[in-house]
Amino acid sequence: MYDKNNVFAKILRGEIPNKTVYSDDNVLAFYDVAPRARVHVLVIPRGEYTDIFDFTQNAPADVQVAFWNGFRNTVEKLGLRDNFRTVANTGRGAGQSVMHFHIHIMSDERFVEDF
Ligand code: AMP
Repeated sequence: MYDKNNVFAKILRGEIPNKTVYSDDNVLAFYDVAPRARVHVLVIPRGEYTDIFDFTQNAPADVQVAFWNGFRNTVEKLGLRDNFRTVANTGRGAGQSVMHFHIHIMSDERFVEDF
């Protein structure tokens, strides 16, 4: 069940500040407060979905399309077209600490050397 007091819900309500990268009617993207890559940004839907499973099962199709459009716009705004990773931790066992669906976008020169 969705907890309206999770930290991202508070960010969406403007109760906690954020460093916004991209924003539209459906999506907010902002810098992670504890970055684990040179660029570390979180993309979230404005709707109340706990994780990627909840979102893909319950969000209307147009909302899902709008989310991925916002995701792509965020990546393009960051100039990361061909050098980034995405992570969606799902469930506390997998390290999800904020129960509002979010995608991590991470990029670091080191990633290029990995390949
Ligand atoms: P996860 O562990 O996948 O749920 O990711 C949650 C992320 O939210 C972590 O990387 C945190 O550093 C980040 N985070 C927590 N609080 C804030 C905040 N107030 N502003 C920005 N990022 C946050």
